[in-house]
Amino acid sequence: MAQRYVRVQNAEGIVHYGLLQLDLKVQVLDAPPWLHGRPTDLKLEPDSYQILAPSSPSKIVAVGKNYADHAAEMGTSVPDEPLIFLKPPTSVIPSEAQIQYPEVTQRVDYEGELALIIGESAHLCTPQSAQTKIWGYTIANDVTARDLQKRDGQWTRAKGFDTFCPLGPWIVRELSPGARLQTFLNDDKNPIQSACIDQMVFSPEIIVSYITQVMTLLPGDVVLTGTPLGVGPLQLGDRVRVEIEGIGRLENTVAASK
Ligand code: MG
Repeated sequence: MAQRYVRVQNAEGIVHYGLLQLDLKVQVLDAPPWLHGRPTDLKLEPDSYQILAPSSPSKIVAVGKNYADHAAEMGTSVPDEPLIFLKPPTSVIPSEAQIQYPEVTQRVDYEGELALIIGESAHLCTPQSAQTKIWGYTIANDVTARDLQKRDGQWTRAKGFDTFCPLGPWIVRELSPGARLQTFLNDDKNPIQSACIDQMVFSPEIIVSYITQVMTLLPGDVVLTGTPLGVGPLQLGDRVRVEIEGIGRLENTVAASK
């Protein structure tokens, strides 16, 4: 199994980056792994920590309509160049945390996506150099208030609510180009989304290169690469699970906004 890089919080609230071992102990690192964190002597027992989202990004840059079949289901064609938008860092929650359904919307959708973790500062990158800035891969759910997205034109509100970016549960460094992304709802055995990540219109290095023509990506920043066909609504009490072959599964429940 690939090495799993986690971010955890202990009972005292101290946050550590670490390596998740097969026995579920966490070998603590002295810094984020993309900033060359080295293993320390500290090892956390399985019941002594809570898993957090695997990065704490300065920003999340996402791409819309990056799978042709999803663009078609939205009634649009694929854009000529990547269509990017931002989600705020405050939208991030870890696996197992609750997605909070805001009162102001009547339609909240899941969007299972591959997430890229940026390892070093990236500005004006070619696709070749962009590839070297991608430190690892995790899973995201680009939760979207679809009615507000249509009403506003701008996507900031629809995509930006607190809890609207489940991320994790951990980062891996290698990913098969043909890895399958699938989304499941509740106990349904059949996926509601299923696609290979090589069906993306714009590849990860093209997306990262494109973003860095606009803004500098910083270590730990997150790039969401778009969702395939099959987006649909979430209801209160639903459990939504996004899986990517070779990474794992990101699972969250939907609760009423507090
Ligand atoms: Mg999306």
